[in-house]
Amino acid sequence: MKPHVSFLPSPGMGHIIPLFQLAKCLVFNHGFQVSFFVITTQSSAAQDQFTRSAAELSPDLNIISLPETDVSGIIFEDMRILTQICVITRESIKSLKPMLIELNPTPVALIIDIFTTDAMEICEELSIPVYSFFTASTPLLALSLYLPTLDFEVEGEFVDLPAPVEIPGCKPMRTEDLLDQLKDRKNDEYKWYLLNVSRLPYAAGILVNTWENLDVQRIAALKQNSFFRSIPTPPVFPIGPLIKEEETLKEKDAEILAWLDNQPCESVLFVALGSGGTLSSKQLIELAWGLEMSKQKFILVVRKPTDANASGTYFTVGSDEDDPSAYLPDGFLEKTSGVGVVVPSWVPQLAVLRHRSTGAFLSHCGWNSALESLVQGVPMIAWPMYAEQRMNSTMLVEEIGVAVKAAAEIGEVVVGRKEIETTVREVMQGEKGKMLRSRAAELKRSANEALDGGGSSYLSLSLLVDIWKSYLKK
Ligand code: UDP
Repeated sequence: MKPHVSFLPSPGMGHIIPLFQLAKCLVFNHGFQVSFFVITTQSSAAQDQFTRSAAELSPDLNIISLPETDVSGIIFEDMRILTQICVITRESIKSLKPMLIELNPTPVALIIDIFTTDAMEICEELSIPVYSFFTASTPLLALSLYLPTLDFEVEGEFVDLPAPVEIPGCKPMRTEDLLDQLKDRKNDEYKWYLLNVSRLPYAAGILVNTWENLDVQRIAALKQNSFFRSIPTPPVFPIGPLIKEEETLKEKDAEILAWLDNQPCESVLFVALGSGGTLSSKQLIELAWGLEMSKQKFILVVRKPTDANASGTYFTVGSDEDDPSAYLPDGFLEKTSGVGVVVPSWVPQLAVLRHRSTGAFLSHCGWNSALESLVQGVPMIAWPMYAEQRMNSTMLVEEIGVAVKAAAEIGEVVVGRKEIETTVREVMQGEKGKMLRSRAAELKRSANEALDGGGSSYLSLSLLVDIWKSYLKK
C-alpha cells in the first residue's frame, strides 16, 4: 500500500504553491498518495486555475476543496488581510474532521502551514501527526519561534524598543524590519499571528523552504541554540528551494515570451510585486517614470493603484484584466513603446525569470519570488511592501549579497523616480550589476547542489520520507 499524506495550506498562492510542490515530489519521486485540501476563497482566478490544472496531474494526487463557508457576517472590508485569512481558515477547517475520517487509508501525516494550525486539535483526536511547512524565510521562522517569549518579556510596542531585537543565535533584527503584524500589538492580526506561531512547538517537525547553505547561521541556531532547544523546537528540516515547476500560459503570456525572445541576453528588467502587491498612485507614477528614465528594457506587471492597502489584490489576483492606460501616467505607454511591455495583474513569473533575456528582477521579496529568482540565478532590486518582505529584503541585500535596495529618502514614503532610474541602471549596466549577477550564479549552483541526490535538502526530505513510511508499518 502506498503511504498517504494530506496537506492543508492557508489560502493564497504563496502558501499553496510550495506545499503543492512538496506534494508532487512525494507522489512522483517517493511513491506516495496525497490528498491536498484547498480552502475555497471567493474570487481568486489564480487559485481556481491552479485547482483545475492540479487535479489532472495524477490519480495519486487528489485535490479536495473544503466547502466554501459564508463569511459575509464575520469578514469586513476594513479587516486586515491576515485577520481575513485566519477567519476564513478557521471557518473552513470546521469541515475538515469528517473529511479526514473519510479518507482511506488514513493519512500517516497532515502537513499544514503557518495559519492552518487549528487542524492540530482535530489531528490530535484522530492520532494523525502534524508537520508544519513554514513557507516563509528563516529570519521569520526564528522570529516566530521567539515571539511568545518576546510577547511575555516586552511591554508596549516592539517598534518602540530602543535597539534591534536580539533573537538567540541570530543576527539582531531592526525593529523596522519586523513583520508588519507585529507593529501594532493591539490589532487582531497580531493576536492571530501569535496564536498560530505559539503552536509551532506542537508540530512533529518543521519543514522550511530554504537550504542549509543559504542561511548557515540561523539554521544552526534553530537546531542547536539552547534557547530554541528549550522551547522545545521540533526537528527542523530545510527541504528547499521548492518552487513551482510549471505555469499555465494564456495567449497574452505567449506574446510576452515571444517579445522576450527578441531581446538581447540579460537585457530586460522584470518588475512584479507578488500576488498581492499594489502600489499607491504616487508610487506607481514615480516607478513608471523611473523606468522610462533608465532607458532599460522592462516588463512591468501593474495593478490599479490603491492608496489604502499595499496587499490589495491578495484574494482576487488574476481576476483583474483592467486597462493600465487608465492609471499609468499620461504619455508613459507611448514613450516606452518597444522598450517595455506593460502587463495588467499577472504574468507567468517563472517563465519570465527563466528566460535568458531577463537580467534582473525588481521584486517585493515575497519568499517564493525570492527563491524563484535565486534558483534562476537572477539578481534582484528589493522593493519590500508588507508582511515579512522587509526582513527578506535585508537578508537578500545585507547577508546574501544578491540584491540592492531602492530606498525612499529619509522621511519619505515614496521612492523617487531619480533613485529608481539610478538603481535600475546600476543593476542592469553597472559594476554593481556584474557583482550581483555573479553572486546570483553562485547561489543558483548552491541551490541545485542542495536538491541533487546527496545534497542537504535531498537528505532532509529523504529522512522525512523514511519517518512517514515508518508510520505506515506501525
Ligand atoms: N506570481 C506569478 N505571477 C505574478 C505574480 C506572482 O506567477 O504576476 C507567483 C510567483 O511566481 C510566486 C507567487 O505568485 O510563486 C507569489 O508568492 P510570494 O511568496 O513571492 O509573494 P506573495 O504573493 O505571497 O506576497
